Amino acid sequence: MNDTGPGEPLRKITIVGGGTAGWMTAAVLSRWLSQVEIKLIESDAIGTIGVGEATIPHIRNYFALADIDVAKMIDAAKATFKLGIQFVDWGAPGETYFHGFGRIGRDMLWLHTHQLWLAARERAPGSVKDFDRYSISAQAALRNRFMFPDPRDRTSPLADYEYAYQFDASLFARLLREESEARGVERIEGRIVEVRRNSETGFVEQLRLEDGREVDGELFVDCSGMRALLIGEALGVGYDHWDRWLLCDRAMAVPCESVAPLTPYTRSTAKRAGWQWRIPLQHRIGNGYVYNSGMIGDDEVADALLASLDGTPTADPRPVRFAPGRRLKAWEKNVVAVGLSSGFLEPLESTSIHLIQTAIQRLLALFPARGLCAPDIDEYNRQSRDEYEDVRDFVIAHYKVTRRSGDPFWDHVRTMDVPDSLAERLELFRSSGRFFKHGAAELFAEESWVQVLIGQGFEARADPVTRFVGTEDLVHYLDDMAAVMSDVAGRMPEHAAFLSRLPASGAGR
Ligand code: FAD
Repeated sequence: MNDTGPGEPLRKITIVGGGTAGWMTAAVLSRWLSQVEIKLIESDAIGTIGVGEATIPHIRNYFALADIDVAKMIDAAKATFKLGIQFVDWGAPGETYFHGFGRIGRDMLWLHTHQLWLAARERAPGSVKDFDRYSISAQAALRNRFMFPDPRDRTSPLADYEYAYQFDASLFARLLREESEARGVERIEGRIVEVRRNSETGFVEQLRLEDGREVDGELFVDCSGMRALLIGEALGVGYDHWDRWLLCDRAMAVPCESVAPLTPYTRSTAKRAGWQWRIPLQHRIGNGYVYNSGMIGDDEVADALLASLDGTPTADPRPVRFAPGRRLKAWEKNVVAVGLSSGFLEPLESTSIHLIQTAIQRLLALFPARGLCAPDIDEYNRQSRDEYEDVRDFVIAHYKVTRRSGDPFWDHVRTMDVPDSLAERLELFRSSGRFFKHGAAELFAEESWVQVLIGQGFEARADPVTRFVGTEDLVHYLDDMAAVMSDVAGRMPEHAAFLSRLPASGAGR
């Protein structure tokens, strides 16, 4: 068989960049494309962005796809479990809510828990409890409890609850590098100083390194981070800026020593001109203040950040600049952008690593033949645009539905016009508590949206169909559900103890 014909898959892939995106790509491609020659170029002098610690439950699919032993990952990347995000002061100062992973409570026929809750709030306001009382993830997280789901008892909320991980992204990338190199990926250390393109087709043909070495490839995966060396600088693919909705353009990050208890969740606290994250890992807590650099200075941010740490800082605060938005085409000619080169959304819902993961899955699903195929590329770009815009709307929604006032930052986001796609969703939810995903592939489901909207005090009416349920039945049903969540969560093991008892390999899912 002729293996160089146009219908044959590509055989030479060069990945540019060895951050989280580069090594996540290398690990998966080397696992599944054993006959493809894979090279990865990274520059020790340039380094990686070095932040990015919280994930969402889909990361577990990545471990399976990349064939990573999860227990080994937990040990190597100092991982903790994550059951969701606690939002502090987002609705209004002094208020707290929880966005827990997975299902909320138990639906009554087709009526979802949040509809029952909205109806109870309309008809028996004194009876309703905080909405996070119906989420097993939230209840376990707030008690610092964790265990793996137990599918044996299908009636238990533990049967199918969801979880993710928080880990040190640099250590994670190091583990992926070991795995990838063991599977044959050739790592090339050096700085790329020239991108050579075919004068007729414009395809990238060769990369020249500072020391004169030349590296070729058929397909190039641009994981060069915000520099976007190939997709942006060389191919000139533009960027759709979203700073009219997402005001934050900088983050100040600083790690600090761990403190007890080891919380199985990320915390996001609203601040004067942005918000602050807290991500507990085994060996340290990651902290950062995400802000609009025109509304607050770096020094004030650094002072506020250092003053709010739970433990002693272990490094100096470090600013990172970013531009919220999306590369207009993630795939152009023979270059596919994965990671920060393809766009950036602030880490409010911990989505960047996920977007890397789906980009890799998409690349596998549309893996090109020699000669490349325009419909594949168009489909890839359409899917990645839809995915980015859906996540963008969810992040914007957190700002839009705030009730905070008095700070220019919050006054701006509360009163700004939002994309039509989001405005329509908010209106539907306001009028009937209803929510529909744009399509099966949309990342955040109804459960996520309603926790944020209700958690921030967004006023919504219950679905009129809830009128068919008597008020007493509603209240009883919700009380019973909250009691079950509380009871089950209270019997789960403590997070730190659970983590310390995991075997060195083979555990984890
Ligand atoms: P980088 O880490 O920047 O890697 C770029 C690579 O390209 C490096 O290896 C560099 O050496 C190489 N390179 C660049 N130029 C050249 C050249 N000329 N020659 C050779 N090599 C070159 N994501 C989450 O999922 N959860 C989070 O909680 C989260 N928090 C974040 C917080 C902040 C403040 C920021 C900014 C991001 C956060 N992210 C988070 C996103 C996450 O950090 C990134 O998505 C992830 O690290 C991917 O980065 P990358 O690999 O694309 O780029």
